Amino acid sequence: MYKVGIVGYGTIGKRVADAVMRQKDMQLIGITARKHNYRVEIAKKKGIDIYAMDDITELCEHGIKIKGSLRNLLSQIDVVVDCTPKEIARKNKEEHYDTYPNLKAIYQGGEKADMGQSFVAQCNYKEAIGKKNIRVVSCNTTGLTRTLHAIHQKWPILRVRATLIRRATDPGQTKRGPVNAIVPCLELPSHHGPDVRTVLPDVEVFTTAVVVPTTLMHMHNLSVDLKEHKVTREEVMEVLRNTRRVKIVRKELGVNSTAEIMEYAKDLGNFRGDMTDICIWEKGVGVHGKEIFFMQAVHQESDVVPENIDAIRAAMGFLDGEESMNMTDKALMKPNGDNPIRD
Ligand code: NAD
Repeated sequence: MYKVGIVGYGTIGKRVADAVMRQKDMQLIGITARKHNYRVEIAKKKGIDIYAMDDITELCEHGIKIKGSLRNLLSQIDVVVDCTPKEIARKNKEEHYDTYPNLKAIYQGGEKADMGQSFVAQCNYKEAIGKKNIRVVSCNTTGLTRTLHAIHQKWPILRVRATLIRRATDPGQTKRGPVNAIVPCLELPSHHGPDVRTVLPDVEVFTTAVVVPTTLMHMHNLSVDLKEHKVTREEVMEVLRNTRRVKIVRKELGVNSTAEIMEYAKDLGNFRGDMTDICIWEKGVGVHGKEIFFMQAVHQESDVVPENIDAIRAAMGFLDGEESMNMTDKALMKPNGDNPIRD
């Protein structure tokens, strides 16, 4: 049984916690909290042990029973999954995690690539086996690498050009915008292209990005040039259809927007109403000689969740990546009841 602790119980941390609790080979030892809020209340209701990052007074005043300090948590676990906001994990790593020689640590995509082995399970599970530090890449990089890897395996890619239409913030957050603007990312390439290459070093990819006023998913518009193969649309569909953690949005479903994808995920009874698969619109796939075009939607809050679970197994030296992904996907597919709608 792998003993897991989670530092940072926000958008990603609370999902990873739920996902860990569904795995037969993992035990959630606890999460950390800093301030009292609804998320901590829910952790308490779920029976999760809560450890305090720093001052416990405010938490105690609200009736939250504190099991111990961060150090107490770290001394009991095999793996820490750090889900704190951008750049805080580095401080946690240097001040805390690095001082435990046997502790493995998983970081998120807000951190720089030097934090650990960049990881997307279906692309490079093997490279992460036994590593002390693994970085699950960002939601966008995860989405790009899942589909590009599948194409590149079948037909080597010459170059990729992609535009990312990014959500402004997450549905539960109220402090960020834009509310009424489109904000171009004036960094070329946007950081996503170079980040993809931390997982797929031999794929030449150039990305641009804009942020738009939505909370429901990111969209990627991709143009992929193949080195030498001329392919048919049917061949491309076949590859994408058979790619793990990718879902083809069939044209007859009438799912024509990210809003409808998220509604569809809830209606399917997906765990937490999330969509951990990268969604590609069937009607949006086109081919022109050696070029492939497609549009995909990425549920930013959840596509990295199965990756975190596989990263835990890889860090712990579990050798079979395919088996890890099978276990993860099976455990996450179950909705709250026992009656999943298979799609
Ligand atoms: P969040 O703000 O929703 O949650 C962060 C959590 O960390 C909160 O519980 C907060 O209380 C806690 N925290 C803040 N400062 C802390 C500190 N100094 N020590 C300990 N805990 C602290 O953040 P998030 O959106 O879950 O993002 C976490 C990481 O995941 C980031 O690296 C981010 O880039 C990455 N990520 C986010 C998304 C997304 O869409 N939200 C998607 C993929 C990856």
